[in-house]
Amino acid sequence: MARRISAATAATGSWTDPDGFRSPAGEVHAWLSGTNQTLCGVPLARAQLTRLAGVPFEEAQPATGNAADRVTSVCPRCLSATGHRRGERRWQRVNPRP
Ligand SMILES: [Zn+2]
Repeated sequence: MARRISAATAATGSWTDPDGFRSPAGEVHAWLSGTNQTLCGVPLARAQLTRLAGVPFEEAQPATGNAADRVTSVCPRCLSATGHRRGERRWQRVNPRP
């Protein structure tokens, strides 16, 4: 298994799901806790990105994540920076919501 950076999520928006879990919305980037920019080099403050320290970047991807219901796009540079590759594998949601 390839080594992957375990990054948190930064998003252009956020919402609280019915379980009270803060989830990303809009476009998501990978972000390492303790830094003030995304993995692709966007300063969080200047881009007005919301930090979601409790949401692993993998969980914020529409193809794989359980926290991605309102994510519209994923930054491709952050995807490759975390070791993910587009079309690498067909993922399936583990717990599809009705
Ligand atoms: Zn990015």
